[in-house]
Amino acid sequence: MSDWYWYVIVAALLAVAFAPSLLKGRCPGCGKRRLCSVDLDESLSSSLDEDDRKNFLSFYLCEACGRRWRRQRSQPLEDASGSKWERIFQREGL
Ligand SMILES: [Zn+2]
Repeated sequence: MSDWYWYVIVAALLAVAFAPSLLKGRCPGCGKRRLCSVDLDESLSSSLDEDDRKNFLSFYLCEACGRRWRRQRSQPLEDASGSKWERIFQREGL
């Protein structure tokens, strides 16, 4: 029998599929891998400025220290503690 390599291939595919969700982003504030992405629903994303929408902003909350972050495309994380972003994180009940 030489089926073993199929198990290796399946295991590798599973690792690739699940690794990104297991590896959370690192928080620039406290250095812990505890960043949770915050989903924007339709009404929230339409309440953003047009510029922000075009920039494909994504938002993150650190579970460890509670700091708020935003990211434009693949740019580095930027602080999102300003009141402008308040409603995005408020919805998370935090
Ligand atoms: Zn943190």
